[in-house]
Amino acid sequence: MVLERRKFLQLIGGSAAAMGLSHLWLPRIVQAMLENPGNPPVIWFQGQSCTGCSISTLNTVYPDIAKVLTEIISLEFHPSIMASSGEQALKVLDYALENQAGKFVLVVEGAIPTQATGNFNTMGEKDGKPITALDWVTRLGNASKAILNVGTCASFGGIPAGTPNPTGAKAVRDILPKATMINIPGCPPHPDWVIGTIAHVLLYGIPELDKDLRPLVFYKGLIHENCERRADFEAGKLAKDYGEEGCLFELGCKGPMAYCDVSIRGWNNGVNWCNRSGGPCIACTEPTFPDHNGSGLYGLLDKDSILGIPWRKAEADEPKKLVKLT
Ligand code: SF4
Ligand code: SF4
Repeated sequence: MVLERRKFLQLIGGSAAAMGLSHLWLPRIVQAMLENPGNPPVIWFQGQSCTGCSISTLNTVYPDIAKVLTEIISLEFHPSIMASSGEQALKVLDYALENQAGKFVLVVEGAIPTQATGNFNTMGEKDGKPITALDWVTRLGNASKAILNVGTCASFGGIPAGTPNPTGAKAVRDILPKATMINIPGCPPHPDWVIGTIAHVLLYGIPELDKDLRPLVFYKGLIHENCERRADFEAGKLAKDYGEEGCLFELGCKGPMAYCDVSIRGWNNGVNWCNRSGGPCIACTEPTFPDHNGSGLYGLLDKDSILGIPWRKAEADEPKKLVKLT
């Protein structure tokens, strides 16, 4: 192994990544993966998905996505980008079930509907009957080496599972609670999180996860901890309308409850990210997205909930230092 795991984690979560310089770390990881023989096949299944997670992953710039798909990941099935269609395409899944059990990695994008015996989402037919996503994910998931849930829909239910959830949309872990899986939430997730996690699984196995099965290397810190508007938050300089300077808390920013590194990594090679562009964080990486326990995307966070989270405990013990939020 050319690249030690410790070095790998430094690269994908370290200073180069923090500056949005994925072109500094991805080529080295690509090289390590090219030198690692026998990468398992990857099957990418789409349930109730808008395909945004695929589009985000396709935005991987360094290396270009063609190299990732053809030389690094043995991507054998992807409904949006594979050349084959119909029965020919479905044969890939049948082959994996019959001949590659325990060897392939299953990527799931989208939630899985369970109402109407799963018939809100079907793909292909058997004996004249549609095959549901519920059936595919159950069989493929049970036969896979590991499941990677890409996006908040697959990880936690996401938008399809939002109130009133007429299709009974569920997260994959609710369908297969005992399967080995990793959640890579985000609506959509950052391409670095997707490619970085796949690379970790292929090179070193399952990465260290938090209680919601998210890789800690990408989801350890709160947005609020590294937000460039944090000084405004502490000073009580709160924007009252979109486009104003200041902390976006009173516009519904959920940064104090959202775990991921996008406030340091940025999007599009670090060019921008949600709060910098003036759009309050909607905590799309959290299990409560999009309802957020009734507050919705832009409802104000309960001030007490901020005081209750661990990193604010010190301030909670010294109330005079707290910024006045209301
Ligand atoms: S997580 Fe968001 S981007 Fe991904 S499929 Fe669901 S709605 Fe689309
Ligand atoms: S509340 Fe939102 S905008 Fe304000 S500092 Fe925290 S993350 Fe940044």
